[in-house]
Amino acid sequence: DDFDDMGLCDQLLRGIYGFGFEKPSMIQQKAIPIALKGSDMIAQAQSGTGKTGTFSIAILQQLDPGLKRCQALVLAPTRELASQSQRVMTALGDYMGVVCQDMVGGNHVANDVNRLREGVHVVIGTPGRILHLLRKGYLDLSAVRHFVLDEADQMLSRGFLDQIKDTFQYLPRDAQIILVSATLPPEVLDITHEFMRNPRRILV
Ligand code: AMP
Repeated sequence: DDFDDMGLCDQLLRGIYGFGFEKPSMIQQKAIPIALKGSDMIAQAQSGTGKTGTFSIAILQQLDPGLKRCQALVLAPTRELASQSQRVMTALGDYMGVVCQDMVGGNHVANDVNRLREGVHVVIGTPGRILHLLRKGYLDLSAVRHFVLDEADQMLSRGFLDQIKDTFQYLPRDAQIILVSATLPPEVLDITHEFMRNPRRILV
C-alpha cells in the first residue's frame, strides 16, 4: 500500500513525496480511497495520525486547478489549526498550482477579500470569520464540492454548532462532507445524521 497505488496525479505525488511523506499512514490508507469515491465520510483517529494529510490529499486530487474558484472549504476550531492545515495543504499541492488560503479571526477581513478576488481553490477557516465572509457576500460557495469539519467533535458541540448549521445553508446540496475527529460522542454522531448522506465511517 503506497501513495503510488492510489491513482493520484503526478503533480500531487511530487508534492506528497517532496513534503516528506513516504508511505500513507493507516488512516490515509483506509480513508483516502473512500474519500476519492466522493462519499460522505467520518474519519476517526487519534491526533497525530495523519488526518490533515488524509483530507488534504483527497481534496487536492479532486480539485480542478484550472478553475480558480473556491472548490473546498475546511473549518477548524482554532486559528492555529486552520493555519497549520493551510501550510500542509499548500505544501502537498505545491506542484499543482492550487491556492489554499486560511481565513481566520484576528486577520484583516480586507486581506481575505483581496485573496478571494484574486481567486483561491481552497479556503481553510474558523467558523466566525467564514460566516462573516458568507453573510457579506465576499465568499461564494457555489463551486464548493468538498466540505471538511476538522476536529468535528469540537465543531459540533461547544459554541460552534449554530455557526456550522448556518454555514451549511450556503453549501451546495451535493457537496461531499468529510468529518475528521479523534472522538465521536453519541450526541455528535446524532447531529451528523441531519446533514450527511450515508456517511462511510472509518475508524483507526
Ligand atoms: P496530523 O495527524 O495530520 O496532525 O499529522 C501528524 C504528523 O504526522 C504531522 O507532522 C504530519 O506531517 C505527519 N504525517 C502525516 N502523514 C504522514 C505520512 N504519510 N508520512 C509521514 N509523516 C506523516
